[in-house]
Amino acid sequence: MSQKDNHPTSLNLLSNYLHEIAGSGVNDILLSDAALDKLSNLSISGPGENPSNQDKTIALSELQGKVENCKEYRSIETLRNTMVFATGSPDARIMFIGEAPGAEEEKHREPFVGPAGKLLTKIIETMGMARENVYISNIVKFRPLIDGAEQGAKNRKPSTEEIEASLPFINTEIKIVNPELIIALGGTAMTGLLGIETGVNAARGQLHELGQHQVIVTYHPSFLLRSGSNSDKRKLWEDMLMAMNYLRMPISEKQKTYFSAQ
Ligand code: URA
Repeated sequence: MSQKDNHPTSLNLLSNYLHEIAGSGVNDILLSDAALDKLSNLSISGPGENPSNQDKTIALSELQGKVENCKEYRSIETLRNTMVFATGSPDARIMFIGEAPGAEEEKHREPFVGPAGKLLTKIIETMGMARENVYISNIVKFRPLIDGAEQGAKNRKPSTEEIEASLPFINTEIKIVNPELIIALGGTAMTGLLGIETGVNAARGQLHELGQHQVIVTYHPSFLLRSGSNSDKRKLWEDMLMAMNYLRMPISEKQKTYFSAQ
């Protein structure tokens, strides 16, 4: 990665740090003449490299149209017909990526609104953010079909073919949103994005690289709903603490201890 590619992330970290110390009452920092000189000549990015929220919204809605009209993608007969694209802020620092929409998501045309979605929203809020301020998407944009008949509330994991057909779209989406950090929720997102086949347990708790993006792999919220285990909840929470640390978000003493053994 070139130094230039590093700029936005480093500057965001610097900006967060300056906000943090400003919040604790520091109004001045001492800079050498050379550093001041560099700062006044610094261009964060050239035209078009740092698109505005509006540019991103336009690019995402174009992408949404492409997904909806992509003949090849739409010809996969094992996917249903209602597209569920994404939700949240195109300017988000953090992007959560799941597997595919389920029954509730299809009904509301919004990712993560069913039981797993409610848990994800709770996790986001416990991290100190609002659902509207993060970006939430799925690898696969259509609900996988079961048996071609009335499938009711039943969902299934997307197939390799369905994931592969979806990858160009999610990769473009990542490029447009350009988040500082991606959270891959569960094995499908992990394998699809990173090509890792080892299982979530082995991949969680560390940063992975996806091009110039950093990715943290963690459990899918629906796994936690099934497992109900406090130690799994703690592991997911540790991954979120790692994400908060990476983003230089404030972490309270209370936040540090959630789900730890009593
Ligand atoms: N599970 C997912 O992976 N995505 C959703 O949108 C809902 C449940």
